[in-house]
Amino acid sequence: MKIAWLYHDFMDLYGDKGNIMVLQKRCEDRGIPCQVDKIGIGDETDLCDYDLIFLGGGADKEQLQLIPDLMARRENIRKAMDEGTFALLICGGYQLFGEYYIAADGTKIDGLGFHSYYTDTGKAGARCIGNIVIEAQLDGRTTEIMGFENHGGQTCHVTHPLGKVIKGCGNSFDAGFEGYLDDHMLGTYIHGPLLPKNPDVADFVIVKAMQKRNPSFRLEELKPLDDSVAQLAREQVRRKLGITE
Ligand code: GLN
Repeated sequence: MKIAWLYHDFMDLYGDKGNIMVLQKRCEDRGIPCQVDKIGIGDETDLCDYDLIFLGGGADKEQLQLIPDLMARRENIRKAMDEGTFALLICGGYQLFGEYYIAADGTKIDGLGFHSYYTDTGKAGARCIGNIVIEAQLDGRTTEIMGFENHGGQTCHVTHPLGKVIKGCGNSFDAGFEGYLDDHMLGTYIHGPLLPKNPDVADFVIVKAMQKRNPSFRLEELKPLDDSVAQLAREQVRRKLGITE
């Protein structure tokens, strides 16, 4: 599997790097060769060569800084996704695949415009901060996804949310829904990092990436791994948040 890790050197909030480590480890444990290429501003790369694009979260200043480079890659990213490259996008990265993001100081940062969702700023600097748990359907399987969110951005007009909020905010203070999911990308506000606490999501992403070269690849073909430590962490989070069901 070939992973393109975009702007690895500064889009990396709250341990987003851990997502890459989990993907590498879960592939390695199954004998799936996994290559991660770090792609920074100005690097000449054809993203069509990759099975997965990963972009983490970042502060407003960092999002603004990468925009010229991201925009220059727009057609290449579109083509890669059309050819089956899957994109995993966290928080600031997720915002930039929509129409625009209004930063905390009012600056409008244009996004790639692949989707009609857009992100406004929180009223009077208010931010969605804290633990979050959502219920999602990943290829027809119901799963709880949990982690940590910290964003001022309020994302609206999300046509295909990733899941329903059980605890926390999600796309905006009162949206009731979190993230974005379709056949080409999974965008989410969940840091934590996302994948260590959510092995189901990690395997879902691995399957999507594997399907680029082998469209009939199925979850059942992935060797089961021992996720008992992650399960323990998940139970602790649920207990802490008072989720009893
Ligand atoms: N700067 C963006 C916001 O505050 C994204 C933050 C993040 O990636 N955690 O909404």
